[in-house]
Amino acid sequence: MNILIKGAEVLLPDMSVKPQDIMVQDDKITALGDLQENFIPDKIINAREMLAIPGLVNAHTHASMTLLRSYADDMALEDWLSQKIWPIEDAMREDDLYWGAALAAVEMIKSGTTAFADMYGPYMREVAKVVAESGLRGVLARGIVAVAPGCMEKLADSVSIYKEYHGAAEGRITVMLSPHSLYTCPPDFIEKLAAEAGKIGAEVHIHMAETITETENCLKEYGKRPFPHVEATGLFAQGTLAAHCVHLDDEDFRIIKKYNIRVAHCPGSNMKLGSGVAPVPRMLKENICVGLGTDGASSNNNLDMLEEVRLVALLHKVHDLDPLAVSAAEAIKMGTQGGAEAVGLQDVGKIAVGYKADIVLISRKNAPWHPRHNPLSQLVYSGSSNDVDTVLVNGQILMEGRRLTTLDEEKIYFEAERCVERLLRHS
Ligand SMILES: [Zn+2]
Repeated sequence: MNILIKGAEVLLPDMSVKPQDIMVQDDKITALGDLQENFIPDKIINAREMLAIPGLVNAHTHASMTLLRSYADDMALEDWLSQKIWPIEDAMREDDLYWGAALAAVEMIKSGTTAFADMYGPYMREVAKVVAESGLRGVLARGIVAVAPGCMEKLADSVSIYKEYHGAAEGRITVMLSPHSLYTCPPDFIEKLAAEAGKIGAEVHIHMAETITETENCLKEYGKRPFPHVEATGLFAQGTLAAHCVHLDDEDFRIIKKYNIRVAHCPGSNMKLGSGVAPVPRMLKENICVGLGTDGASSNNNLDMLEEVRLVALLHKVHDLDPLAVSAAEAIKMGTQGGAEAVGLQDVGKIAVGYKADIVLISRKNAPWHPRHNPLSQLVYSGSSNDVDTVLVNGQILMEGRRLTTLDEEKIYFEAERCVERLLRHS
């Protein structure tokens, strides 16, 4: 379908905002500014009161954890995982993963997220089904906890998911391999996973250096900090998406730069779990690729990427006692371009000719958008995801006027509640 988005203020790759028409042909942006000759749109979207931004990219989440939203809060990561989250996750079946991911998809589309990097346990094919049906873009990884039984079967399953789904759903699904973390995967297993990833050419997604406890235990058990420890397994030779990266020293920075490791910074989750503050201003200064992630909805507790964009701009200012620590432009760049690069997506994350038509139109009618001094500042500091009006992914309209076109919102809420009732009975 050919779509003309008319009269929007457009956030351009250099972070300037200019009035432009956007021409979409099939899955791509084919022109900006003037209407192309011979371009006859099938549909015109009047975007005169709107700001057009590239779709937000959630660089680290666990989509189906929406089912555990507000199930356990205000606990340390280690207790939260071992006492609350893992026991109930053990009771999850295929349809829990499906409806949890569907609930996440509703929330993501309605808040302007067009792509997400997901890491979760078994039944990743259910998440792939949701990606295919919803129209979203998903970078899927079956997270492996190797201290539980059957880790080699899980690895074989990850490899077959890669073979089945990498490039599926018109290219909207890509697949990574994922050792969950160094504290759930012994080094010999990470080595085996790295070798498999190397054989099939898959990139990897892992939690790294999230808490002080992780670093202390790693030092105690292996005599090394998390980054040198995992470096020795060969994992980083694959393209790596590393979630969190909160506790880093100079040697860790050297390793991140040496292997071009891409960071998924999760300010909301790090704040809620009391994990610490990742050295993001230094990462940006040293040209490390940084995207933003919500982490799972049970440690955030939503999947609202505009909230993460605001948090990254605010958190580092207060932490560094420096109002220039992370600017509004840097924050939104991390939420879009940075995220796309971090999760390994080409031609995504910018409103530019030749890029995929992953576009979010944000209404500027509400009070926080007046007066109109600076749309970029309003997007980061005063607007909200409730202002998201229309969402396109790969040139397909997934929401228009806040009405979803691919998903049945009410049915998804009903089924998600039903899954949770059963889970609570069985865990
Ligand atoms: Zn996580």
